[in-house]
Amino acid sequence: MTTTELDPARLTRHVDQVWGDEIVPTLIEYIRIPNKSPSFDPDWVQHGYMEDAVRLLEGWARSKIEAIPGATLEVVRLEGRTPVILAEIPGQTDDTVLLYGHLDKQPEMTGWAEDLGPWTPVLKGDKLYGRGGADDGYALFGALTAITALRDQGAPHARCVVLIEACEESGSYDLPYYVDHLADRIGRPSLVVCLDSGCGNYDQLWLTTSLRGMTGGTLKVQVLEEGVHSGMASGIVPSSFRILRHLISRIEDEATGAIKLDELYAQIPPERIEQAKAAAEALGDSIWTSLPFAGRTKPMAEDGAALILNRTWRPTLSVTGLAGAPEPVNAGNVLRPMTEAKLSIRLPPTVDGQAAGQLIKTTLEADPPYDAPVSFELEKAATGWNAPRLESWLEHAVQTASQLAFERPCAMVGEGGSIPFMGMLGEKFPQAQFVITGVLGPHSNAHGPNEFLHVPYARRITAAVASILLDHARRGG
Ligand SMILES: [Zn+2]
Repeated sequence: MTTTELDPARLTRHVDQVWGDEIVPTLIEYIRIPNKSPSFDPDWVQHGYMEDAVRLLEGWARSKIEAIPGATLEVVRLEGRTPVILAEIPGQTDDTVLLYGHLDKQPEMTGWAEDLGPWTPVLKGDKLYGRGGADDGYALFGALTAITALRDQGAPHARCVVLIEACEESGSYDLPYYVDHLADRIGRPSLVVCLDSGCGNYDQLWLTTSLRGMTGGTLKVQVLEEGVHSGMASGIVPSSFRILRHLISRIEDEATGAIKLDELYAQIPPERIEQAKAAAEALGDSIWTSLPFAGRTKPMAEDGAALILNRTWRPTLSVTGLAGAPEPVNAGNVLRPMTEAKLSIRLPPTVDGQAAGQLIKTTLEADPPYDAPVSFELEKAATGWNAPRLESWLEHAVQTASQLAFERPCAMVGEGGSIPFMGMLGEKFPQAQFVITGVLGPHSNAHGPNEFLHVPYARRITAAVASILLDHARRGG
């Protein structure tokens, strides 16, 4: 028996029960595992943490899959690559929905509150603290529970493929190989649901309309073979820090933060500017009050829409690592031999990540001041993504889902972060529609200290995904 109308109370009951009885306890175990992404743990194979995380998630998923006739679950492993978890759930319609998430984690980061820590799960009220619960451990659970919630009511869904990778925080460099390897099993999805994105608040469904790309690497400036007393050398030997600062100023205006290379900018589509204005209105001051500003630090612009566009459609530079200098307490009067900085550059959704990286490298390495050895080692690069226009069924479906789960309309905004896989999927499946959403809302602080999963929000997202899957299955009918 199938039904085409959801019983919202029954949906909520199912979702809340699975979250309470199974998902939260399993995520607590998951947070304990320091399964850092390969970029942050090159010895990830030997350490075995990734394997622990895969087994934990696989174990839970298997218990769900076994109850669904014809459904399969496999951990797929290509030689020398991080594994992926692949679940295939047959549906009532022929076409395919691809649901995506990842299980690798960011590194620890400093600044965690005294009673919290990256590998210490703490459930406080609505929030489950610890690394990787929100980014993106919950995704597999949310995706499968949305499907079981529909099946619980005999409601239809398309064939669903759930793909969970283990390399996202390193730029998903293994994923293209899996997408090729699994091409027949993935098929040609008409809808892609990605549960690795953000939300502007915890009061409604948020759809991500674009993602920024990124590039970056390590800039190294060397001036001496070894450190020398600064009384002896300063004034004769140029400072490696000063040269580094000067080089970075070729890329970024140090007074305003504006990027100086025209090629790193994109034309912002008019509809995105309109959506940014609407989102700014919905979010108000929270655009900046949601961030932990120190003291009287002000945001980089006063206008909310300008800040949203800065974060989503303009390039920015962050210096995320520094080396070559001791802690201040250990710093004597020495002219240091070198300074090294890791540069992370976010790019507008439609700017080519590889080309941008090459341009930055060329710019930084050209004509080194004082002929000092200067190198810029490029790291990962990713092109961003701008969502195709929503088809009318989906426009309707996301509003229905948001009303059902939150009793509030769905909001749309670009994200400042990157999900490399989305750009790749956009190219591979130009016909697909995209629902990119997630639980990374105010203060959730993925990648930083005190990361948390807002559990009630994650439950409601699960219910919203179920509603969208149902509307997808009966669209055009
Ligand atoms: Zn993520």
